[in-house]
Amino acid sequence: MLKGKSALVTGSTSGIGLAIARALAAEGANVTINGFGDKAAIEKERAGIEKQFGVKAIYSPADMSKPAEIAAMVRSAEQAFGSLDILVNNAGIQHVAPIEEFPIEKWDRIIAIGLSAAFHAVRAAVPGMKSRKWGRIINTASAHSLVASPFKVAYVSAKHGLAGLAKTVALEVATFGITCNCISPGYVWTPLVEKQIPDTMKARGLTAEQVKRDVLLAAQPTKEFITVDEVAALAVYLCSDAAKSITGANLSIDGGWTAE
Ligand code: NAD
Repeated sequence: MLKGKSALVTGSTSGIGLAIARALAAEGANVTINGFGDKAAIEKERAGIEKQFGVKAIYSPADMSKPAEIAAMVRSAEQAFGSLDILVNNAGIQHVAPIEEFPIEKWDRIIAIGLSAAFHAVRAAVPGMKSRKWGRIINTASAHSLVASPFKVAYVSAKHGLAGLAKTVALEVATFGITCNCISPGYVWTPLVEKQIPDTMKARGLTAEQVKRDVLLAAQPTKEFITVDEVAALAVYLCSDAAKSITGANLSIDGGWTAE
């Protein structure tokens, strides 16, 4: 379905981003992966994508908190594959603390990586997409783009901002064959969720099991974590021709969380 297309997925060395990059490659897209982590493990993933799916894969170490690196990454994807057709703004970090103790540098970093990075990437990618009259922009937002939870002020603000960014961009590019949407998962079991358990234990005075049951899955009527593959399948669908009229949407995949 995506043979000849080129996709860039930010924050794709782990979790949801990695699953999306692999799913797009499985559909024939050449991919640029990005994110932090162990060099050898990243190279193994990159080479594995090429071998398993018969596509080309490159890795960009661009730091999503640095606008110049983001623009350079978009250019390098365009140079490597001749175009950048699918942009997935997925990189994100979390910090859990009451607002009066929330570290200022954490606020700045979460907004930079979770919101401003998408602005910089879209800004750099849209001219090429417009000239080819085809593009797919997908932002991994969150149930937290629609509702809030206490102690996550920066994350909730960044994700609400991302939903606004997607709507605005969708309107600007609507007549160019480009769609821009958010996917908003509930809790997906990835390192991002696992790492917030100790801080949530501290902020709420709970054990790890209580955090999982009474904080995380309490919000999700299905009482199950969402899988990275379910999120990736929705991203692939948004890249299909069948989804060409879905734009400016914020698609929940949250086990019913935001229906409450
Ligand atoms: P993860 O921690 O497994 O992956 C995050 C990725 O972002 C990693 O590849 C990491 O290296 C990368 N990253 C972090 N800082 C970066 C930076 N400065 N520059 C470049 N890359 C950077 O987390 P995940 O759960 O897969 O999260 C992916 C996205 O999904 C995030 O935007 C997150 O907010 C969103 N999300 C996650 C959940 C969930 O429950 N896991 C729910 C809703 C939304």
